Amino acid sequence: MIKYINNELHIEKVSFSSIAEKYGTAAYVYSKNQIINNLHAYQKALKPADGLICFACKTNSNGQILKLLAKHGAGADTVSGGEIFRALRAGFDPSKIVFAGVGKTAEEIEYALKAKILMFNVESFEELEVINKIAGRLKVKAKIAFRINPNVDPDTHSYIVTGKKGTKFGIPYEEAFEAYLIASKMKNIIPVSIHTHIGSQITDVAPFKLAAKKIKKLADDIENAGIKLEYINCGGGLGIDYSGEDPAPKPKRLMDEIFSIFGKGKKFIFEPGRSIIGNAGHLLAKVIYRKISGDKNFLITDAAMNDLIRPTLYEAYHDIVPVKKTNAKKVKTDVVGPICESGDFMGKDRMLPVLDQGELLLVKCAGAYGAAMSSEYNSRPLLPEILVDGNKAALIRKRATYESLLLNEI
Ligand SMILES: *Cc1c(COP(=O)(O)O)cnc(C)c1O
Repeated sequence: MIKYINNELHIEKVSFSSIAEKYGTAAYVYSKNQIINNLHAYQKALKPADGLICFACKTNSNGQILKLLAKHGAGADTVSGGEIFRALRAGFDPSKIVFAGVGKTAEEIEYALKAKILMFNVESFEELEVINKIAGRLKVKAKIAFRINPNVDPDTHSYIVTGKKGTKFGIPYEEAFEAYLIASKMKNIIPVSIHTHIGSQITDVAPFKLAAKKIKKLADDIENAGIKLEYINCGGGLGIDYSGEDPAPKPKRLMDEIFSIFGKGKKFIFEPGRSIIGNAGHLLAKVIYRKISGDKNFLITDAAMNDLIRPTLYEAYHDIVPVKKTNAKKVKTDVVGPICESGDFMGKDRMLPVLDQGELLLVKCAGAYGAAMSSEYNSRPLLPEILVDGNKAALIRKRATYESLLLNEI
């Protein structure tokens, strides 16, 4: 939902330059209708079966965005007590909240049980015992799935591979059947689902299929042992097209494959994050200075690695485009921030037009793991977030201030 109109880049019907004028730069800008369309694509694809599309809140936990998704029928995939808190505040029905993570603390487990969330995606035997104990004390039954590590290796950055042997995630495939038998005998535990999440930014359905086939076999064994699995949870992980040259499968393509493996008689949970919010949000930045060092051209912008750490952390590629279309000559450019680290870059060796000081740039598709992973490193206040709907732009998070940097200091 971004395009040039009269040589000016717009998001929906609002120009980025008008947003910069009103809210300053750098800033995160989201398209409301892109978010809704992305969610609807999943919901529509789920139609042949029953179940839930649980938005992975860790990708973007802005309250207004969560509220929008809750209002449109999404559930929430959470990974901390704080995320459950945010999801409840945003209006998610607790019976649509699932809770994953390898290190749920006793406090978080108690909080989740009291909130009456749908289920825990349990990642270890020790965690299972703690849930059982706390549920007993609270006199409630805890519904669980085990997160299974199916030992498949998707082709993605090693930091975001999670379903391979030797990663910290889930219960090893070989131990999973036994785990269900143990859980089914525990007094305060009800196993209701089986879960897997193999990684993130996966642009090929093959590893999802491979994982689903393994999970199907396990699920059959578990059900044959008399344990009914109401839900099949296939996690998230569907990639998006960051470069404009690497199209990712549509949700329907993925889900049709999953349905053909499991049949449609089950309830399904999917936990998309990136593929709901990734291409709906962008980082708007301004050129502060230009310089040439060695044979390199640099654009130094007011956005930096504290605002968007993906390029630094995962060597992730984000397309970068000028907000005003120009015929200026293109030169090989590094787009960098003001932070005192060589890893502080948004993009390297990009063919970009020679821009002037003060001109605007857009770092595209930064809606997922962008603002959510930002920090105040170098004492840079967190960026504002703006949600655009048609010809209206609304501030959904204020720009932090110098004063707010000191908020919790004593
Ligand atoms: C991160 C995560 C997701 C979302 O992954 P995306 O690649 O953003 O879709 C889903 N489920 C779990 C358990 C996760 O940790």
